[in-house]
Amino acid sequence: MSDTIFGKIIAGEIPTPKIYEDEHCICINDIAPQAPTHVLIIPKKPIATLADADQTDQALLGHLMLAAGNVARQLGVENAFRLIVNNGADAGQTVFHLHLHLLAGKAFEEGMV
Ligand code: 5GP
Repeated sequence: MSDTIFGKIIAGEIPTPKIYEDEHCICINDIAPQAPTHVLIIPKKPIATLADADQTDQALLGHLMLAAGNVARQLGVENAFRLIVNNGADAGQTVFHLHLHLLAGKAFEEGMV
């Protein structure tokens, strides 16, 4: 397990309510939400950044995307949400354990990405 905050949450060392959990990932609310819905989808495997993922992670990366869609449906935001991965400190990554941000419940600017 990574020694990041997410590694500690996955290991149960920091009790955190899970919106969803399975064999491969957990989904939790972000502690500092940037939107009314702000969920983090975190693989249990401690990959530091998306760029560190390799071919052996192909199924896991697909699993995270499907988990995001399932959680969006679970929260009733499946018609309008945004997924973000910050890769690297210069892109805003602060926790070096791969995670997807799922944001919903606010108006998103068109053409931002
Ligand atoms: P990053 O900046 O690495 O893309 O995203 C890290 C996210 O983790 C941030 O949005 C931050 O608010 C969130 N975060 C940091 N520490 C904790 C924590 O202890 N619990 C939860 N639930 N989220 C956290």
